[in-house]
Amino acid sequence: MKILVTRNLPIDLSDLAQVAEVEVWPERQPPAYEWLLEKVPEIDGLLCLLTDRIDRTLLEAGQRLKAVSQMAVGYDNIEIAAATARGIPVGHTPGVLTEATADLTWALLLSASRRIVEGDRFTRSGQWQTWEPDLLLGADLTGATLGIVGLGRIGQAVARRARGFDMRVIYTSRQRCDLEVEQALGVEYRSLEQLLSTSDFVTIHTALTSETHYLFGDRQFQQMQPTAILINTARGSIVEPAALYRALQTGQIAAAAIDVTEPEPIPMDSPLLTLENLIVTPHIGSASVKTRRKMAEMAIANLLAGLRGERLPHVVNPEVYS
Ligand code: NAP
Repeated sequence: MKILVTRNLPIDLSDLAQVAEVEVWPERQPPAYEWLLEKVPEIDGLLCLLTDRIDRTLLEAGQRLKAVSQMAVGYDNIEIAAATARGIPVGHTPGVLTEATADLTWALLLSASRRIVEGDRFTRSGQWQTWEPDLLLGADLTGATLGIVGLGRIGQAVARRARGFDMRVIYTSRQRCDLEVEQALGVEYRSLEQLLSTSDFVTIHTALTSETHYLFGDRQFQQMQPTAILINTARGSIVEPAALYRALQTGQIAAAAIDVTEPEPIPMDSPLLTLENLIVTPHIGSASVKTRRKMAEMAIANLLAGLRGERLPHVVNPEVYS
């Protein structure tokens, strides 16, 4: 059997090497789509990343493919319906990156509210002359309202951390959670519109789907308070970049801190990069040593199960088994 791994992983691949011939794409940049398309007819298993486009054409060319295993929880880069139609199970890595991504969300929230990145730039450029009563004033967290869009695994982990800051937490999602979950987390349900108009901080944690694509556009920013801060550690395409630029540039909202952009990487000539009130990190939500190792282990376990013809421990499309 042959396996293709589309990047060097922070883990030993000997478990895979015991059952198959393993080819690892050695470059820092992802392989080109055309290269993947050429390779896929020869392989039995594919271990991929969110930077690889796994579409219908590629899946149909993968006549030997027994499993696709993605090292990420999100899978918006994969045409799941096409994989299911071909009977190919798709694996992902939910849960193990929840806490690390919630931590990064809070790092961004605190950085934006207390203007840490601006403060660092100010200091390094020699502008720090004295203590000033009105220097780099930010927003308080205590008593503020945090609005969570999508109360899944990561949204809930973000909500748990808000307790330590004595914040009021409201959330929206397609389905309201059970009362016990709401009470345990200390969160209250709101419509998206209500959430946007009353939150001091809005943080996005939905998956990217056709429903959440550009969920945030001009209308949503108009509904937010001028003092509001937006955090996005979910997916870039949930927020329309031009609308975000307009909202930040005109002061419709106070600031934003984003770990994900559309496209990725953000183009160096993006007008967003000219804004002082925006923080951008390079999609590092799950980037802790332990978390990345666990993600790699989970992706390998999914792939090995697929190669053995067993059910993937974490499968996105369980319909393939029915
Ligand atoms: P999850 O447990 O599936 O949570 C997603 C939540 O979004 C669910 O609670 C879902 O609830 C809600 N949702 C779906 N559609 C919605 C809509 N139209 N409006 C409002 N809420 C909606 O997933 P997770 O593990 O928390 O991960 C969330 C996302 O974070 C992933 O899909 C991934 O894209 C992203 N992520 C990014 C990083 C990073 O490095 N920055 C790391 C990990 C994950 P309902 O179905 O009830 O609506």
